[in-house]
Amino acid sequence: MSDQPSELQVRNPATEEVIATVPAATPADVDAAVVRAARAQTAWAALAPGDRARLLRRFAATVDGHIEELARLEVREAGHTLGNARWEAGNVRDLLDYAAGGVERLTGRQIPVPGGVNVTFLEPLGVVGVIAPWNFPMPIAAWGTAPALAAGNAVLLKPAETTPLTALRLAELALEAGLPEGLFQVLPGHGPVAGNALVEHPGVAEIVFTGSTAVGKRVWAKGADRLKRVTLELGGKSPNIVFADADLEAAATAAPMSFLDNAGQDCCARTRILVERSAYDRFLELLAPAIEAVRVGDPADENVDMGPLISATQLARVRSYVTDDLDGIRGKTPEGPGYWFPPTVLTGVDPRARVAVEEVFGPVAVVLPFDDEADAVRLANATDYGLSGSIWTRDVGRALRVSQAVRAGNLSVNSHSSVRYWTPFGGFKQSGVGRELGPDALAAFTETKNVFISTEA
Ligand code: NAD
Repeated sequence: MSDQPSELQVRNPATEEVIATVPAATPADVDAAVVRAARAQTAWAALAPGDRARLLRRFAATVDGHIEELARLEVREAGHTLGNARWEAGNVRDLLDYAAGGVERLTGRQIPVPGGVNVTFLEPLGVVGVIAPWNFPMPIAAWGTAPALAAGNAVLLKPAETTPLTALRLAELALEAGLPEGLFQVLPGHGPVAGNALVEHPGVAEIVFTGSTAVGKRVWAKGADRLKRVTLELGGKSPNIVFADADLEAAATAAPMSFLDNAGQDCCARTRILVERSAYDRFLELLAPAIEAVRVGDPADENVDMGPLISATQLARVRSYVTDDLDGIRGKTPEGPGYWFPPTVLTGVDPRARVAVEEVFGPVAVVLPFDDEADAVRLANATDYGLSGSIWTRDVGRALRVSQAVRAGNLSVNSHSSVRYWTPFGGFKQSGVGRELGPDALAAFTETKNVFISTEA
């Protein structure tokens, strides 16, 4: 028996009020869900590709008709700003549309061989488990779910304990759109109970896990017992490298939201701002007003840039990294209830300090000076992570050299963009294993089968 509560309490992080209680799935619930999913998957995989695609497009259209409702739910359960939450609901729709476009294009190959014909088939895996974190509940659920369904699999989604509501609503919308019963089920529950049951279940062929590196390692080790496929999207501590030849105004204007978006609870947050020493003072002069201008407040207010942290636990964690003796730039937060932490940029920090190398997962960045290109690359790579990063320079050759030298999966030059559903995403080093999104997303949810047919019999 688990000692975890039998219900999940969902709180609005801007007010601390409980807005819903949801029964937590047990291992027996997971067992029953796997049986239903396996049955639904067999029929789903047998559908004509065009029919599968049509149903996924209908699912996308149904989500599109509920963008505002889903966004407002995300604001209430996760404290995301309304603008972000609308984008996130739209991202689910776009992922479903993009994946639907791949169903008829998911083809094997014919490879020349003597004495016959050799073809490959890309077959669905069966039942796929998607374990999602609380920081982007909707998009990350959809990153795994949409391509897995499109490739002919069933999906069991376990949302994070704090954010099950949008996932549950998406499952209702899937049924409304005509997706078969059992094909896409949501199992809200505790990680070590429902999440672990999915990882250990022999009927689940693959786990797509997004979350912390510590839990990701446990999931991988458990999955290895059954040689289960595991995709891991884990933490980050990404650099924002600013060379002296860059457009410093543009770099300083863009820097705040590169680590303050979603109150810094973003795996791609550029929380290590590395600035060439000759431009360091000027950059800080430009950065200070940009940080102070960030509007922190009620995430349902359209004019707000940053909302609260997700929970009291997360607030305590972030506070533990930012001690009063540290210098830097600090923004403001609202008074009263809610899990608020101000935008914070720390200066004069030892590059080996915990706050400079560990993932804080809050609105906190450090600024570190560097001497030259080699020093910038050394500092950028001096963490266990390798998820994303940015390079600001007007020198195209340098932009390319540094892009190749930084060990991270998603880089941007003179920009902080890293996630598009049609380009690949994933981490180097302790930031993950495997890739999601992009043109290969559907194939990642298949097994390749090779068949040789003799023409000489
Ligand atoms: P977490 O690791 O605590 O939890 C993630 C999910 O795993 C939750 O659903 C949780 O219930 C579940 N879980 C916990 N223990 C489990 C277990 N023993 N077995 C199976 N499942 C278990 O992470 P979090 O705090 O929810 O999310 C924040 C982390 O996610 C950060 O480190 C962030 O960088 C990372 N993240 C990575 C990406 C990416 O794409 N690389 C994207 C978003 C978030």
